[in-house]
Amino acid sequence: MFVEILPALVTALLVVGFSFETWLSTLNFRHSQAQPWKEEIFTLEQHQKSLNYQKERFIVSTLASIVSFALLLTCLGFGLFGMLDSYLRNFTTNPILLALLFFGTCVVVLNLISFGFNFYAVFSIEERYGFNRSTVATFVIDNLKNTLVTAIVGGALVSLLVWLYSMLGSSFWFAAWAVIMVVVLFLSAFSTSLLLPIFNKLTPLPDGELKDALLSYAKSQGYSINRLFVMDGSKRSSKANAFFSGLGRSRTIVLFDTLIEKLSIEEVTSVLAHEIGHDKRKHTLGLLALTTMQMFVFTFLFGLLLQRDEFAAVLSAEPSFHIAAITFAILYKPVSLVLTWLVNSLTRRFEFDADQFATSTYRAEPMKTALEKMASQELVNLSPHPWYVKVHYSHPPLFERVKALSR
Ligand SMILES: [Zn+2]
Repeated sequence: MFVEILPALVTALLVVGFSFETWLSTLNFRHSQAQPWKEEIFTLEQHQKSLNYQKERFIVSTLASIVSFALLLTCLGFGLFGMLDSYLRNFTTNPILLALLFFGTCVVVLNLISFGFNFYAVFSIEERYGFNRSTVATFVIDNLKNTLVTAIVGGALVSLLVWLYSMLGSSFWFAAWAVIMVVVLFLSAFSTSLLLPIFNKLTPLPDGELKDALLSYAKSQGYSINRLFVMDGSKRSSKANAFFSGLGRSRTIVLFDTLIEKLSIEEVTSVLAHEIGHDKRKHTLGLLALTTMQMFVFTFLFGLLLQRDEFAAVLSAEPSFHIAAITFAILYKPVSLVLTWLVNSLTRRFEFDADQFATSTYRAEPMKTALEKMASQELVNLSPHPWYVKVHYSHPPLFERVKALSR
């Protein structure tokens, strides 16, 4: 009985999930569009421009999610996953190769769809609002590099996991958790030095007034910055950013060249103070602990599903590792929505905490003007819906941060 209604149950779950997401983003869109002009940040012209910008982005992202949802329903309704699986079995029965070919095909299809939508978002929307600095060549090369990195890292991980499953059977999940955590730790320690240079150029911050100011602040906090880099963010977009990465001795601070371009020396120093705040207040460790728990839940549930062959019927296929993985990806979505909500509520708290660190060890004013400057130049949404913020915002909205800084 349960097996017969299982495909219908999964489809119903998908429809509910999709409806919820679409409803929430529409709610956010309507709420933002109805807000009056906030004189202290935007000129009237910027206000209108920002509303139009939000509107165009909303339409494209809604279309993209409708297309991928429709594609998934088609695959389920017509048993396309099962067909692909039996077609690939003509070429190989090796479980590792089969999984690689199967995921490879899915990734290529998904990439082609997102390529189209991203291309439009960058070369039409971002271009018209003056944010795009990327060329078609850079965009295409980025996509190729991305595909290659995903193929190598993802391919190696999938091969290892399928092999572990064939060796360990039902106790597979614990080993999978350990393997995934090793990869997560490795990437958080080395992604800035290994992966980032594939896409961007990192140069040490040149000597001068800015470097002196940043180092003297760091010194006042007894903080040694191992590496302080400028990244050529302007190669793709005029939007600015900064981040802290690495664990222990590999800690690195990266400032976008666009950030240095837009902000005064004091404002960049306050941004650095904020980033150092993340490290000093152990936010990186907090997030790592959370990821560890998240991955534990993830692999444990996946291990349970792998033992239930009846789930393969949902995809009209023979039971196998890769079929179970796709079924799991579908079923895990609501769980991941809840986890995203939890993680984001924590990272928003970390942002307030890092701002507070910057205020107490430096000053509040430059942080405030830096945030306002970036918000007005980048036409950010000043009035997101509070429920949307709770689920999707990793950083608090501008006004909440400014209000907290003023206290
Ligand atoms: Zn931050």
